[in-house]
Amino acid sequence: MGQTLPRFEKAHGKSEAEIRRRILQAIFELRLPPGVRLTEEQLAETFDVSRTVVRQAIARLAQDGVLVKLPNVGTTVAAPSRKETRDILAVRKMVEPDIVRMLAAIRDGEGLDRLRAHLAKEQVARSRGDRGTLVRLTGEFHLLLAEISGNQVLTRLMTGLQTLTCLAILLYADQDDACPPDEHSRIMNAIADGDEETAAAEMLDHLLHVERDLQLDHRDERSSINDTIAWLRGDAEAQEK
Ligand SMILES: [Zn+2]
Repeated sequence: MGQTLPRFEKAHGKSEAEIRRRILQAIFELRLPPGVRLTEEQLAETFDVSRTVVRQAIARLAQDGVLVKLPNVGTTVAAPSRKETRDILAVRKMVEPDIVRMLAAIRDGEGLDRLRAHLAKEQVARSRGDRGTLVRLTGEFHLLLAEISGNQVLTRLMTGLQTLTCLAILLYADQDDACPPDEHSRIMNAIADGDEETAAAEMLDHLLHVERDLQLDHRDERSSINDTIAWLRGDAEAQEK
């Protein structure tokens, strides 16, 4: 990820993996809004591939929760509710401190070089005021951590979680830059120092900031009518939503 450029010289016939990567990249750059409808025809035409290839890409992204298939509606980009976003961040807070703890224990030189190169790119995008690229890169930082851990299951899990977080940023954040500046470098420095506890603590702090910026305390507008009806019925559980 991040290293290999798409093969532009190839006129058509993008692979299923390339299509998935492009769609994820579009979401990471906040170019693909949550809830937008995608059709097989449209994607097949865009990528100049057969609908079979598109269908495979859609199926895989739907499995990761990034796309949603609805009967009578078709395929849409996911639009996580506030409750879902809180759940996503809860899982991230369980998983990501342990990822960086593990990386601090390993202190793999090549991995650290990749992290440094990545943070340098973030810095360039930030100084240029290139917000789309910056948002994508800050999201990819979290995927890179999982990737460097060498655990494919983690990488796959984090891809889904990070992508849904990007969509939630578009829905709920006042500003588009979810990762506060400097926190990534603090995490990386702790990994480089082999300081497992600090790395984990910095990551947890960072995710709490991301969560705070998302303003998830409000109830979902989407479910508030249902909540009210349930409340009128005297269903106490509904108030916990
Ligand atoms: Zn971040």
